[in-house]
Amino acid sequence: MCQSCIDQARRQFMLRSAAGIAAGALVLSGLDRPARAASVPPTSLTPDEALAKLKEGNERFVKSPELCALDLTKRREEVAKGQAPWATVLACADSRVPPELIFGGLNLGELFVCRNAGNTADTDVLGTIEYGSEHLGSPLIVVIGHSNCGAVKAACEVAKTGAALPGHIGLMVDAILPAAKAEMGKEGDFVANVVRENARRTAAKIGEQSKIVSHLVHQKKVRIAYAVYDLDSGKVEFIG
Ligand SMILES: [Zn+2]
Repeated sequence: MCQSCIDQARRQFMLRSAAGIAAGALVLSGLDRPARAASVPPTSLTPDEALAKLKEGNERFVKSPELCALDLTKRREEVAKGQAPWATVLACADSRVPPELIFGGLNLGELFVCRNAGNTADTDVLGTIEYGSEHLGSPLIVVIGHSNCGAVKAACEVAKTGAALPGHIGLMVDAILPAAKAEMGKEGDFVANVVRENARRTAAKIGEQSKIVSHLVHQKKVRIAYAVYDLDSGKVEFIG
């Protein structure tokens, strides 16, 4: 390598290093942004108080849905500077199960929500939940399944027949399959049993696979619960 090649290689290395530092700074500033967004104090609710509040909200939703009226404009201004959600909810993506509504018409900034078909906990969901608990101070994590869940039905079908599902749907349903296999042949409605078991397993997985969450649970700063929402009655049954 001649001197000019060495000089050129050095210049390229310097450029790449500078770009790397700039990219790192961008990443850090990206991470820093939510930190500033969380500059409002976290909720003062305990895990049990947060759970009671969700139960109250669901009663309101079932008995008096007309009371679920929000002043969104005022609230938007209040929470624009930061968020301090008092519960984290992992729910199905099903359009009939929006957590803010089924828990009584909750406003912007109240719930930290993850949703996917079948309310399962992959890496993205675990990271999101950790962020909600550790960084935003949300004291409660609720995994909520629902009756007649399409993703669970698909998993039941795969468990029974070994059917292959197209595209990424099959991979998504794989996460529910262990619950479906465990419930196969048991008494009662297969799909309903798997909805419940899948929510239970997902809640357990969060506690087992997230060191951050399990540490907070151990410190009694966070509680993990699971529940099932009934599409017909609108009721949320908290199971564990
Ligand atoms: Zn569903």
